[in-house]
Amino acid sequence: MSWKISIVEVGIIPQLPRALYVPGASPDDLLDIPCLAYLLDDGTHLVVVDSGPDAHAAAAHGFRIQGRSAEALARGLARHGAEPGDVELVVHTHLHYDHCQNDPLFPRARFGVQTAELAHLRQSRRFYEGIPQMCAQLEARVVALDGDTELLPGLRTVANGGHTPGHQSVLVETDDGTACLCGDIVSLEANLWSIGEICPDADATRTFIERALGQQWEMIPSHEPALRAHRWFAAP
Ligand SMILES: [Zn+2]
Repeated sequence: MSWKISIVEVGIIPQLPRALYVPGASPDDLLDIPCLAYLLDDGTHLVVVDSGPDAHAAAAHGFRIQGRSAEALARGLARHGAEPGDVELVVHTHLHYDHCQNDPLFPRARFGVQTAELAHLRQSRRFYEGIPQMCAQLEARVVALDGDTELLPGLRTVANGGHTPGHQSVLVETDDGTACLCGDIVSLEANLWSIGEICPDADATRTFIERALGQQWEMIPSHEPALRAHRWFAAP
Protein backbone atom coordinates (compact mmCIF):
# COMPACT_ATOMS: atom_id res chain seq x y z
CA MET A 1 0.00 0.00 0.00
CA SER A 2 1.35 3.42 -0.93
CA TRP A 3 0.44 6.71 0.67
CA LYS A 4 0.64 10.28 -0.57
CA ILE A 5 1.80 12.80 2.02
CA SER A 6 1.00 16.51 2.16
CA ILE A 7 2.89 18.67 4.63
CA VAL A 8 0.66 21.53 5.79
CA GLU A 9 1.93 24.49 7.79
CA VAL A 10 -0.70 25.34 10.38
CA GLY A 11 1.12 27.97 12.44
CA ILE A 12 4.43 29.48 13.47
CA ILE A 13 6.02 29.67 16.92
CA PRO A 14 8.01 32.91 16.78
CA GLN A 15 11.41 33.66 18.23
CA LEU A 16 12.48 30.40 19.86
CA PRO A 17 16.16 30.08 20.73
CA ARG A 18 17.90 27.66 18.38
CA ALA A 19 19.92 26.61 21.44
CA LEU A 20 16.85 24.70 22.72
CA TYR A 21 17.26 22.37 19.79
CA VAL A 22 20.92 22.57 18.88
CA PRO A 23 23.45 22.49 21.71
CA GLY A 24 25.97 25.32 21.61
CA ALA A 25 23.90 27.64 19.38
CA SER A 26 24.21 31.33 20.25
CA PRO A 27 21.51 32.62 22.66
CA ASP A 28 20.87 35.42 20.16
CA ASP A 29 20.02 32.96 17.40
CA LEU A 30 16.21 32.95 17.33
CA LEU A 31 14.06 30.83 15.04
CA ASP A 32 10.51 31.20 13.79
CA ILE A 33 9.57 27.55 13.60
CA PRO A 34 6.69 26.17 11.55
CA CYS A 35 4.18 23.81 13.15
CA LEU A 36 3.27 21.12 10.67
CA ALA A 37 0.39 18.73 10.15
CA TYR A 38 0.66 15.84 7.71
CA LEU A 39 -2.23 14.63 5.56
CA LEU A 40 -1.91 11.02 4.43
CA ASP A 41 -4.05 9.63 1.65
CA ASP A 42 -3.91 6.06 0.27
CA GLY A 43 -6.94 6.52 -1.97
CA THR A 44 -9.23 4.88 0.61
CA HIS A 45 -8.24 6.29 3.97
CA LEU A 46 -7.54 9.87 4.99
CA VAL A 47 -5.28 10.20 8.02
CA VAL A 48 -3.77 13.22 9.75
CA VAL A 49 -0.55 13.08 11.75
CA ASP A 50 -0.53 15.86 14.38
CA SER A 51 -3.14 18.59 14.05
CA GLY A 52 -0.98 21.55 15.11
CA PRO A 53 -1.60 24.48 17.45
CA ASP A 54 -4.55 26.84 17.48
CA ALA A 55 -3.62 30.50 18.04
CA HIS A 56 -6.55 31.24 20.37
CA ALA A 57 -6.21 28.10 22.47
CA ALA A 58 -2.44 28.64 22.66
CA ALA A 59 -2.85 32.28 23.73
CA ALA A 60 -5.16 31.22 26.56
CA HIS A 61 -2.13 29.50 28.10
CA GLY A 62 0.42 32.17 27.27
CA PHE A 63 1.83 30.62 24.07
CA ARG A 64 2.21 32.80 21.00
CA ILE A 65 1.26 31.25 17.65
CA GLN A 66 1.08 33.07 14.32
CA GLY A 67 -1.21 31.86 11.56
CA ARG A 68 -4.71 30.53 11.08
CA SER A 69 -4.61 26.83 11.62
CA ALA A 70 -8.23 25.85 10.91
CA GLU A 71 -8.13 27.56 7.52
CA ALA A 72 -4.76 26.03 6.65
CA LEU A 73 -6.01 22.54 7.51
CA ALA A 74 -9.22 23.05 5.53
CA ARG A 75 -7.23 24.21 2.48
CA GLY A 76 -4.88 21.25 2.78
CA LEU A 77 -7.79 18.81 2.93
CA ALA A 78 -9.58 20.53 0.05
CA ARG A 79 -6.58 19.69 -2.14
CA HIS A 80 -7.47 16.04 -1.53
CA GLY A 81 -11.13 16.77 -2.32
CA ALA A 82 -11.83 16.22 1.36
CA GLU A 83 -13.07 17.99 4.44
CA PRO A 84 -12.44 17.47 8.17
CA GLY A 85 -15.35 15.03 8.46
CA ASP A 86 -13.59 12.70 6.00
CA VAL A 87 -10.56 12.20 8.27
CA GLU A 88 -10.90 8.85 10.02
CA LEU A 89 -7.75 8.85 12.12
CA VAL A 90 -5.48 11.47 13.68
CA VAL A 91 -2.21 10.01 14.94
CA HIS A 92 -0.28 11.98 17.53
CA THR A 93 3.47 11.94 17.84
CA HIS A 94 2.76 13.39 21.31
CA LEU A 95 0.30 15.76 22.95
CA HIS A 96 2.19 19.02 23.42
CA TYR A 97 -0.16 21.86 22.51
CA ASP A 98 1.58 22.63 19.21
CA HIS A 99 0.76 19.13 17.91
CA CYS A 100 -2.88 18.59 18.86
CA GLN A 101 -4.97 21.68 19.55
CA ASN A 102 -6.94 21.35 16.32
CA ASP A 103 -8.28 17.88 17.14
CA PRO A 104 -11.82 19.21 17.79
CA LEU A 105 -11.98 20.20 14.10
CA PHE A 106 -12.30 16.51 13.14
CA PRO A 107 -15.82 15.39 14.00
CA ARG A 108 -15.47 11.68 13.17
CA ALA A 109 -11.80 10.88 13.65
CA ARG A 110 -10.29 8.56 16.22
CA PHE A 111 -7.12 9.84 17.89
CA GLY A 112 -4.19 7.46 18.23
CA VAL A 113 -1.89 8.24 21.18
CA GLN A 114 0.57 6.12 23.13
CA THR A 115 -0.70 4.96 26.54
CA ALA A 116 2.48 6.35 28.12
CA GLU A 117 1.71 9.78 26.65
CA LEU A 118 -1.82 9.74 28.08
CA ALA A 119 -0.39 8.85 31.50
CA HIS A 120 2.22 11.62 31.26
CA LEU A 121 -0.45 14.13 30.21
CA ARG A 122 -2.40 13.57 33.41
CA GLN A 123 0.51 14.92 35.42
CA SER A 124 -0.28 18.35 33.93
CA ARG A 125 3.13 19.47 32.85
CA ARG A 126 4.23 22.47 30.84
CA PHE A 127 3.17 22.47 27.17
CA TYR A 128 0.16 20.25 27.99
CA GLU A 129 -1.97 23.09 29.42
CA GLY A 130 -5.61 22.63 28.40
CA ILE A 131 -4.95 19.30 26.68
CA PRO A 132 -6.35 17.00 29.43
CA GLN A 133 -9.64 18.91 29.16
CA MET A 134 -9.63 18.59 25.36
CA CYS A 135 -8.92 14.86 25.61
CA ALA A 136 -11.73 14.44 28.14
CA GLN A 137 -14.15 15.91 25.59
CA LEU A 138 -12.88 13.60 22.86
CA GLU A 139 -12.41 10.63 25.18
CA ALA A 140 -14.73 8.21 23.41
CA ARG A 141 -12.59 8.57 20.27
CA VAL A 142 -9.13 8.46 21.88
CA VAL A 143 -7.40 5.16 21.13
CA ALA A 144 -4.52 4.22 23.43
CA LEU A 145 -1.64 2.54 21.60
CA ASP A 146 0.80 0.27 23.44
CA GLY A 147 4.17 0.41 21.76
CA ASP A 148 4.87 -0.01 18.04
CA THR A 149 1.54 -0.35 16.23
CA GLU A 150 0.44 -1.18 12.69
CA LEU A 151 -2.41 1.27 12.11
CA LEU A 152 -3.32 0.54 8.49
CA PRO A 153 -1.47 -1.19 5.66
CA GLY A 154 1.67 0.88 5.02
CA LEU A 155 1.19 3.00 8.14
CA ARG A 156 2.75 2.21 11.50
CA THR A 157 4.07 3.90 14.60
CA VAL A 158 7.35 3.47 16.41
CA ALA A 159 7.18 4.22 20.13
CA ASN A 160 10.48 5.95 20.78
CA GLY A 161 10.21 8.35 23.75
CA GLY A 162 13.14 10.77 23.79
CA HIS A 163 11.17 14.02 23.70
CA THR A 164 8.30 12.87 25.95
CA PRO A 165 7.90 9.43 27.57
CA GLY A 166 5.02 8.52 25.24
CA HIS A 167 6.43 10.00 22.06
CA GLN A 168 6.10 8.06 18.81
CA SER A 169 7.14 8.60 15.20
CA VAL A 170 5.02 7.54 12.23
CA LEU A 171 6.34 5.43 9.35
CA VAL A 172 4.57 5.81 6.03
CA GLU A 173 5.12 3.70 2.90
CA THR A 174 5.21 5.92 -0.19
CA ASP A 175 6.16 5.44 -3.85
CA ASP A 176 9.59 6.83 -2.86
CA GLY A 177 10.17 4.41 0.04
CA THR A 178 9.53 4.71 3.76
CA ALA A 179 9.05 8.19 5.16
CA CYS A 180 9.42 8.84 8.89
CA LEU A 181 7.28 11.64 10.27
CA CYS A 182 9.63 12.14 13.18
CA GLY A 183 7.72 14.35 15.60
CA ASP A 184 9.84 16.24 18.10
CA ILE A 185 12.43 13.48 18.51
CA VAL A 186 13.89 15.18 15.39
CA SER A 187 12.61 18.77 15.29
CA LEU A 188 15.22 20.25 12.95
CA GLU A 189 17.38 18.56 10.37
CA ALA A 190 20.39 19.42 12.55
CA ASN A 191 18.98 17.07 15.20
CA LEU A 192 19.90 14.09 13.05
CA TRP A 193 23.47 14.84 14.14
CA SER A 194 23.08 16.59 17.48
CA ILE A 195 20.57 16.15 20.30
CA GLY A 196 19.28 19.21 22.16
CA GLU A 197 17.76 19.73 25.60
CA ILE A 198 14.33 19.47 24.00
CA CYS A 199 14.93 15.70 24.04
CA PRO A 200 15.69 15.04 27.71
CA ASP A 201 16.06 11.28 27.16
CA ALA A 202 19.14 11.58 24.97
CA ASP A 203 19.84 7.81 25.03
CA ALA A 204 16.40 6.92 23.65
CA THR A 205 16.74 9.70 21.08
CA ARG A 206 20.17 8.51 19.93
CA THR A 207 19.03 4.88 19.74
CA PHE A 208 16.08 5.80 17.52
CA ILE A 209 18.05 8.09 15.20
CA GLU A 210 20.79 5.49 14.71
CA ARG A 211 18.16 2.92 13.82
CA ALA A 212 16.37 5.30 11.48
CA LEU A 213 19.53 6.30 9.63
CA GLY A 214 20.46 2.63 9.30
CA GLN A 215 17.05 1.91 7.75
CA GLN A 216 17.44 4.80 5.31
CA TRP A 217 13.99 6.10 6.06
CA GLU A 218 13.35 9.57 4.67
CA MET A 219 13.39 11.63 7.85
CA ILE A 220 10.84 14.46 8.01
CA PRO A 221 11.64 16.68 11.04
CA SER A 222 8.70 18.24 12.86
CA HIS A 223 9.64 21.94 12.87
CA GLU A 224 12.24 22.34 10.10
CA PRO A 225 11.79 25.62 8.17
CA ALA A 226 13.58 24.12 5.13
CA LEU A 227 10.63 21.72 4.69
CA ARG A 228 8.84 24.63 2.97
CA ALA A 229 10.88 23.62 -0.08
CA HIS A 230 10.07 19.89 0.24
CA ARG A 231 8.25 18.20 -2.65
CA TRP A 232 5.39 17.24 -0.32
CA PHE A 233 4.94 20.74 1.14
CA ALA A 234 1.50 22.11 0.35
CA ALA A 235 1.90 25.78 -0.53
CA PRO A 236 -0.43 27.83 1.69
ZN1 LIG B 1 6.60 20.57 18.72
